[in-house]
Amino acid sequence: MSGDKPNSEQPRVSDEERRIARASLPEGLRTETLAVRAALAPSQHGENSEALFLTSGYLQPDAETSARRFAASEDFTYSRTSNPTVRSFEARLAAMEGTEAAVATSTGMSAILLLIMGLLKAGDHVVCSRSVFGSTINLFAKEFGKFGVETSFVSQTDLAEWRAAIKPTTKLFFAETPTNPLTEVCDVAALAELAHGAGALLAVDNSFCSPAIQQPARLGADVVMHSGTKYLDGQGRVMAGSLCGSEKLIKDVFGPVMRTAGMTLSPFNAWVVLKGLETLGIRMKAHSENALKVARWLESRPEVARVFYPGLASHPQHELAMRQHKDGQGGAVVSFELRADTPEAAKAAVFHVIDSTRVLSIATNLGDTKSIITHPATTSHGRLSEAQRQAAGIGQGLIRLAVGLEHPDDITDDLLRGLSTLNH
Ligand SMILES: *Cc1c(COP(=O)(O)O)cnc(C)c1O
Repeated sequence: MSGDKPNSEQPRVSDEERRIARASLPEGLRTETLAVRAALAPSQHGENSEALFLTSGYLQPDAETSARRFAASEDFTYSRTSNPTVRSFEARLAAMEGTEAAVATSTGMSAILLLIMGLLKAGDHVVCSRSVFGSTINLFAKEFGKFGVETSFVSQTDLAEWRAAIKPTTKLFFAETPTNPLTEVCDVAALAELAHGAGALLAVDNSFCSPAIQQPARLGADVVMHSGTKYLDGQGRVMAGSLCGSEKLIKDVFGPVMRTAGMTLSPFNAWVVLKGLETLGIRMKAHSENALKVARWLESRPEVARVFYPGLASHPQHELAMRQHKDGQGGAVVSFELRADTPEAAKAAVFHVIDSTRVLSIATNLGDTKSIITHPATTSHGRLSEAQRQAAGIGQGLIRLAVGLEHPDDITDDLLRGLSTLNH
């Protein structure tokens, strides 16, 4: 035989048998197990680590099959629509979130774009916490507003405000918990009940906790959104995002938008986050332990007016957080406010502390093994108006620390360089 097409010595049926064998992982596996096991079946080569399929197109065995696959948007036809590596990431993340399905996107922001393009039309209304990520506020207030989707911003923690904002046109509640950077925690189950009572869906941005700490769908959320750029990758390498939800939402509502609009996750980035998920549980535990140590130390410092961390007993929603989060983990992000008399003095003190560090990374990202120190008022929330910033509680004296996996004493020693040399 010669001139055979690639792989033709492997009968397709044996491929499928393998796929079926792997698709039938036993029921009831725990998140830690799903994090390393849930994926598509291996290729005919039997690789134990999931393969990276860097391909934009797929060979079709014949014209008839090709026509069928294109019509059904099933199997693999073109990587804007689906790719085996991306599919494995989606399957693994959905399994970990406890949802039927997931769709991967190029970034966290494009996941919110897909959410709104899929669910809403002009005239629809959204209720959103005013404490969510800065770019999320801009996306809702400015970009979606241009297309006639209106958003009311309400308190993260006051349910009465959410209830009062509901209109006949309300289709979606959007929440993020804990929030960036103040780590305010909202009650996901209570918000789900309120949204459903109004005939709306609840979407929760789970970027801060990840499914290793919190599974919003199990508390009633309809869509779980991720910036995979953060803890899913967890090592500061790639941009990624995702929406997790029911098969119906992912396939019928978001699938068609994804295929035509193309906010697709690249196979390489999907492979990086897919492998990142395997260590997510142990990383989040280590992040949370380090963060709690740093937060307690900061609380003991005279230069610090206030520390925001859900793992501290002083946190206003500490009990709720400990109920919602697995094993009392508080996550990696600690924010703290320096003592100062004026906004100008506060900003100068913050800049001194940041510039005195020799180990921490000065950057605006989070979700890395490396600890990152940020001044939200001039970076992540820098594009907001002063009034919006005030409403979100982001003062000039606030520092956000995304605690990494260094030794916690090296992190506090690095902070001490600036704190101990502040001139009051
Ligand atoms: C970073 C972040 C986003 C945006 O994700 P990108 O991947 O940067 O687009 C959304 N929500 C939260 C909570 C984030 O931290």
